[in-house]
Amino acid sequence: MHMAPIIVIGAGAAGLAAARTLADAGREAVVLEARCRIGGRIHTLNDPAFGVPVELGAEFVHGRPDALWRLIHDAGLTAYDVPFDHMQRHSGRLVTIDDYPARLREALRGIARIRHDLSLAEYLRRRQNQNPGQRELVLQFVRGFDAADPEQISAKSVAAEQEGLANMEEETQFRLLDGYGALMRHLTGSPAPLDVRLRTEATLIRWKRRVVEVHCATPRGEPARVRASRVIVALPLGTLQLPASEPGAVRFEPDITVKRRAMSRLGYGSIAKVVLRFREAFWERPAAARAARADESLRNSSFLHDPTLAFPTWWTARPVRVPVLTGWAGGTYADRLIGLDSQELLVEAMRSLGALMGRRPGALRALLEAGHVRHWSSDRFARGAYSYECVGGARARRSLAMPIEGTLFFAGEATDTMGQASTVAGAIASGVRAARQAMGADT
Ligand SMILES: Cc1cc2nc3c(=O)[nH]c(=O)nc-3n(C[C@H](O)[C@H](O)[C@H](O)COP(=O)(O)OP(=O)(O)OC[C@H]3O[C@@H](n4cnc5c(N)ncnc54)[C@H](O)[C@@H]3O)c2cc1C
Repeated sequence: MHMAPIIVIGAGAAGLAAARTLADAGREAVVLEARCRIGGRIHTLNDPAFGVPVELGAEFVHGRPDALWRLIHDAGLTAYDVPFDHMQRHSGRLVTIDDYPARLREALRGIARIRHDLSLAEYLRRRQNQNPGQRELVLQFVRGFDAADPEQISAKSVAAEQEGLANMEEETQFRLLDGYGALMRHLTGSPAPLDVRLRTEATLIRWKRRVVEVHCATPRGEPARVRASRVIVALPLGTLQLPASEPGAVRFEPDITVKRRAMSRLGYGSIAKVVLRFREAFWERPAAARAARADESLRNSSFLHDPTLAFPTWWTARPVRVPVLTGWAGGTYADRLIGLDSQELLVEAMRSLGALMGRRPGALRALLEAGHVRHWSSDRFARGAYSYECVGGARARRSLAMPIEGTLFFAGEATDTMGQASTVAGAIASGVRAARQAMGADT
C-alpha cells in the first residue's frame, strides 16, 4: 500500500527530528522551510577568525537528555564539559559566586509550597523578608536563563524548574566541538538525505480530516501547494501566536481555535546575543582583574554578571582558550534592545563590556577583530527566543502537543511535556513524539 507523504513545516531541530524519524521508518516526508538554511534557532557560523564555532542561537547541551545524546553519538560528534562558575557584580566589585545552583535554590526556597499560581514578580514582592541579593539572583536567572518577563512567568513553573536545578548541580553543561549546526546537518543527511525544501514559506494550511493542503510562498514569488494526508507543524510558538492579519502569520483553515487558549498561556521570551573576537584575551591578564575590580583573576572565569548593564551576562569560551567573549541580554533586557540594528547592538554590547571590564570603549574597540550579533525577536522566522509558562499555564504545553483529528500534529520546543521545553533536547524529543503520533494515526 502506498503511504501518502507527511508534510513537516519547519526545519528546526523539532522538524528535522520528526522528518528523520519518519524517514527511518520508511515514510516519505517533505519538509517545508522558510529560510535559506536549516536549523532555525540553531545557527552555527563557521567563521575561521573565531577559532570556535560561533553559536548565534543554541550553544549548550544541558545535562544528559536521552534523545539528544543518542543523536550526538550517532553523529559521531564530540561534546566537552563547560565549567559552570560564575562571578557577579556586587557593591561595585566582581565577586565569585561559590555555588551558583545552590545559591539559587536557597533564594527560591519555599517557592515549591505555593498553592495558587502567581507571577514570579508577585511572589517575590510578597516575600518581604527576602534579602535583595537573593531577589536579584532570582530575577536575573528568570530573565537570563528563561528569557522571561518576571511579571508574566508562572512561579509554579519556576518551582518545577528549581527541582531540576539539583540536576544542574550534578549534571554538566556541554558544548559540541563542531557546534550544534553539525547535529542539524547529520539529521538532514544521514543515512539518506531528507527532502527539505528551503525558501518555502508556509502561509496557509487548509485541512479537513486526513487531507491537508499547505500553501507556500517560494523564492520566485510563485505560490506553491503541497498536499498530504497529515502535517506536522514544527513552527516556533512566536509564529503560531501571530494574529492571522499579521505579515508572516500562518493561517489555518479551519482555524485551530482549540490551540489558541493554550498558546495564550505561554510566553515567548526575547534574547539578544553577541559573539566577539578580540586580538588577545585581555581579561586573562593580571591587570584585568584590577580594572574590573574583581576579587580574583579572570583567567579562569566562565560566566560574568552585572545586572546594571544592557548586556548583563558574558561568558568566555572556556575550557577552550580563544580570545572570544559572548554577551547575552535575555527577557526584559532584550526587550529594551528591540528595534536596534546590528551595528547599534554591537555598540551597546561594547559599552556593556567596557563597563564590566573597567575599560574605555575606545580601548576595547581597538582590540576588537570581529563580531556577530543577533536579536531573535527581530528574526522574521523565529519572532523571539523560546517559550515559558505564564501564570495558569501548567497544562498549556500538553494541550498544544495534542493532535487534531489525526491530521494536524504539533512539534517544537514549546510542545515538550517532558521537562525539556525551551531547549534543543525538548525540540528533538517533541519531533520524535509528533512523528510517532502521525505514523500511529495510520492505523
Ligand atoms: C539565543 C538562543 C540561545 C539558546 N541557547 C540554547 C542552549 O544553549 N541550549 C539549548 O538546549 N537550547 C537553547 N536555545 C533554545 C533552542 O535553540 C530552541 O529550543 C530550539 O532550537 C527550537 O527548535 P524548534 O525546532 O522547536 O524551533 P525552530 O528552531 O525555531 O524551528 C522552526 C523552523 O520553522 C521555520 N519557519 C518559521 N516560519 C515558517 C513558515 N511560515 N514556513 C516554513 N517554515 C517556517 C523557521 O525558519 C525554523 O527553521 C536557545 C535559543 C536562542 C534563541
